[in-house]
Amino acid sequence: MSDPVRPLIEVENLKTWFPIRTGVFSRVTGHVKAVDGVSFHLGRKETLGLVGESGCGKTTVGRSILKLVNPTEGSVRFDGQDVLASEGEALRKLRKRMQIIFQDPYGSLNPRMTVGSILSEGPRIHRMGSETEIRQKTEHLMERCGLDAVNHINRYPHEFSGGQRQRIGIARALSVEPEFIVCDEAVSALDVSIQAQIINLLLDLQDELDLSYLFIAHDLAVVEHISDRVAVMYLGTIVEEASSEDLYRDPRHPYTKALLSAVPETSPGLRKERIRLEGDVPSPIDPPPGCTFHTRCPSAGPRCSIETPSGFSVGEAHRSHCWLEDAGGVTGEALQS
Ligand code: SF4
Repeated sequence: MSDPVRPLIEVENLKTWFPIRTGVFSRVTGHVKAVDGVSFHLGRKETLGLVGESGCGKTTVGRSILKLVNPTEGSVRFDGQDVLASEGEALRKLRKRMQIIFQDPYGSLNPRMTVGSILSEGPRIHRMGSETEIRQKTEHLMERCGLDAVNHINRYPHEFSGGQRQRIGIARALSVEPEFIVCDEAVSALDVSIQAQIINLLLDLQDELDLSYLFIAHDLAVVEHISDRVAVMYLGTIVEEASSEDLYRDPRHPYTKALLSAVPETSPGLRKERIRLEGDVPSPIDPPPGCTFHTRCPSAGPRCSIETPSGFSVGEAHRSHCWLEDAGGVTGEALQS
């Protein structure tokens, strides 16, 4: 029985490290620390935006939650159930409730199956009704996702545009009536006008079906409109988390500020200074000690390369993992100790 007060998703200290094997005996000589201690909660009917540059581990977080890759450590609970400990039938039932939409719908849709077969595959596997009922539901779902059930149901994925294929991807995820969807860069490959249409479709579906989303993107501008809360990731960890409004109005972490400075200003006449980060993102095989952002941070001080900052509370449900927030953000003192 679901507990309506408990968060739908609870992720605690999630680590997903991939072994590096070398030599003729394939000995493990190191690890790619793709996700290195991520914690967050997601409520029902809520959207958490997960943002960061490519390679920061955000996609691995999404896949780890669904157990599409095997995390190394930590826990993931869905509606109170331990996802990572689930196997076989229990995992299959959980996966029906947790779906994913990929960036490249074309790559994830079987090119030899018609849209009708793609959308009815999940309901058939999960025995969600008779053939007639599944067919009726498929047609309804297609129309709901902006596809033409009469003309599109017998067509193949290559006959559709990128935006239409993403609508098929959304319909496929919805076909098994999930409660939670990982949207993994779901609009990143689309033109801006099509992005807006798909985001509006996701928002309408969320309202109608009480869905929760983990919305993964590399661009803060994209997640603003859809997210209730936003978590910013850098090199396998979350560096700042806040309500969408607080994060855009009052970003605290230097990395968030740099990402936001790259978002084009939409109000005419307003210009903001672009913060350009020096250097490349360090390797997740050997992340820098202390604050992992210190090699590129314009505000770094001596403490930053030695001690790892914990999450400092800077407002209601707003946390920043930066020493600048220690002692109430007294910049100089905080960085010297
Ligand atoms: Fe920059 Fe130091 Fe804050 Fe890290 S802890 S973000 S290096 S000021």
